[in-house]
Amino acid sequence: MTTSNHLLIVGSIAFDDLDLPTGEHRDVAGGAATYAALAASLLLRDGVRVVGVVGEDFPAGVLDAMKARGIDAGGVERATGKTFRWHGRYSADLASRTTLDTQLNVFADFRPQIPPSQRTSPFVLLGNIHPALQLDVLGQLQRPKLVAADTMNFWIEREPASLGELLSRIDLLVINDEEARQLSGIHNLVRAAEDIRRRGPRMLVVKRGEFGALLFDGAGPFFVPAYPLEEIVDPTGAGDSFAGGLMGYLAARGDLSPGSIRCAMFFASALGSLCVEAVGPARLLAANRSHLAARIASFAKLVDHGGDLALPT
Ligand code: AMP
Repeated sequence: MTTSNHLLIVGSIAFDDLDLPTGEHRDVAGGAATYAALAASLLLRDGVRVVGVVGEDFPAGVLDAMKARGIDAGGVERATGKTFRWHGRYSADLASRTTLDTQLNVFADFRPQIPPSQRTSPFVLLGNIHPALQLDVLGQLQRPKLVAADTMNFWIEREPASLGELLSRIDLLVINDEEARQLSGIHNLVRAAEDIRRRGPRMLVVKRGEFGALLFDGAGPFFVPAYPLEEIVDPTGAGDSFAGGLMGYLAARGDLSPGSIRCAMFFASALGSLCVEAVGPARLLAANRSHLAARIASFAKLVDHGGDLALPT
């Protein structure tokens, strides 16, 4: 890896309270930036940078674990007050979840400050925060090569103007199917994707949970399945791990061709599938590159039909 392919990730760092069918878990370290950075660090060694905010109550051990994985957490500010907290409850089949509580705490006054040495980061992942703050981050950067962003229903409903401005300035939007439909006002995902891409991002990834993910980039739609697992423990962070894996792969390869982006989709899905195998980021923290390579090998078998697809004569 050269020093020119760093990936800057800006987003939430959190305490999550998770009500899962298997039990209740409190004070689980999470947040979009945490999941994305841990996932990306398995692909991009010593190249991931995180910018976020934690309160006085956030354990140093979590940031140390990131640093041990080669993640530069120098841009994580420790502010006076409590860390952002999210409380979610999952349905018995884990297919849906309800937000029971969101306490912004130090996140309410978060104004991301990108350290001067990180402003030339060529790869950027803007996690789900206020679109005006995502734009503010972009204003601090010098000519990034690839900017990806996430957003959510809340901003689509309440901040259409700044979200519209953001869309015109990013290369890749990574959202779920519900958000794509809401953003475009179109139910059909192919037509929704056309509409969203017309507003700015030349690439759109639509995540569909256990039904995989679609890429729209103008080279024909591309699909990657979710890896079928015997047991899903906790879906929290799967989407962020997907986005982190996607960007980590692209930054590590430094190749933005349609073929490279299609390969990145497999790594993204593989990291999402690793993430859901344990509560919080535990599985991502325990995973190494051999585990990821094994999952990718299983993935290759999953989609290898072993023949040609010519019509039988
Ligand atoms: P995911 O399961 O990939 O959608 O992401 C879950 C993570 O998003 C959790 O770790 C939460 O801490 C974080 N999160 C939940 N709500 C918000 C929000 N409003 N802003 C930023 N991050 C959030």
